[in-house]
Amino acid sequence: TNILAIETSCDETAVAIVNNRQVYSNVVASQIPIHKLYGGVVPEVASRQHLENINLVVTQALEQAQLGWDRIDAIATTCAPGLVGALLVGQTAAKTLAMIHNKSFLGIHHLEGHIYATYLGDPTLEPPFLSLLVSGGHTSLIYVKDCGVYETLGQTRDDAAGEAFDKVARLLQLGYPGGPVIDSLAKQGNPRAFKLPEGKVSLPEGGYHPYDASFSGLKTAVLRLVQKLENESSDELPLSDIAASFQETVAKGLTKRAIKCALDYGLTKIAVGGGVAANSALRHHLSEASASQDIQVIFPPLKFCTDNAAMIACAAADHFKRGHTSALNLKVRSRMHLSQVMELYDSKI
Ligand code: ATP
Ligand code: FE
Ligand code: MG
Repeated sequence: TNILAIETSCDETAVAIVNNRQVYSNVVASQIPIHKLYGGVVPEVASRQHLENINLVVTQALEQAQLGWDRIDAIATTCAPGLVGALLVGQTAAKTLAMIHNKSFLGIHHLEGHIYATYLGDPTLEPPFLSLLVSGGHTSLIYVKDCGVYETLGQTRDDAAGEAFDKVARLLQLGYPGGPVIDSLAKQGNPRAFKLPEGKVSLPEGGYHPYDASFSGLKTAVLRLVQKLENESSDELPLSDIAASFQETVAKGLTKRAIKCALDYGLTKIAVGGGVAANSALRHHLSEASASQDIQVIFPPLKFCTDNAAMIACAAADHFKRGHTSALNLKVRSRMHLSQVMELYDSKI
């Protein structure tokens, strides 16, 4: 079954055509150069850009796949969570195309898409496995049980991992998005130069939450460090040492929680997803720690880690195979828990 999927939940206008776990085309029009001017994603600008791009990106996806509408079995779109205005553009396009071409329609949860990205790099993978989702808006440990069946075991209490990279980069005046800049600066720095708090989440009964994370304290600690260094001397800030120490702290904290979670639940595979999966320190620490615990860690190709429509199509293919389709009056939602995924489907094919 060939699925055409549209993803417009944030700042990439993306359309892909996928046959189960095989990608026929994957077009992403990124708006990063535009949002860079503002230092972050501006929702209203994002919606307008999606509107300008969507028709062209759909055409390009069909051309790249060398398929006509007659070969498309269903049309899917991200419908939650995300920026409402941005989601609406993709969803309206998907519903319209489904009506015009008389195809089934499926709404997909964005995070389920990020989980499915792993299958695109490793088509033989099957649940159960642990998903470590580290993106601009999420930092979650998800027990993947089956298509549509997810248990969130850990999450961030405040900022997401990617958001922490972006905020720290902003306070170091490194530009947007922060992750890639910090990652490359850190390569010249000493990760042990500064000791920073890992961001443990205390429990009311004492001790720490084993899987939850908090990054706002770490961000504040970097701010205090910068202020202290600036007061102490007029030398230039040791940016690469700060970047390396910050990155090391995040990577080690994420690694520790993911490994503990996998071991506690008897899961032998960890699939990493989201933009922060690109981080070299996270890749290094997680790979090393997994190997010593006989856990297999899977990093999908980077183009499937950041937002794309191939991952949405891949999730839709699995739902469609099970007879799940969505009503054409499906609403977009800015927030939606992963445990509610099955609410999106109300009819059989
Ligand atoms: P969500 O899926 O939660 O809504 P998103 O889709 O916007 O969020 P992504 O596009 O997956 O998030 O990831 C973007 C984030 O990844 C940004 O915060 C960016 O700084 C971060 N990032 C990208 N590359 C790296 C890297 N090499 N190291 C660390 N972070 C990175
Ligand atoms: Fe995303
Ligand atoms: Mg993005």
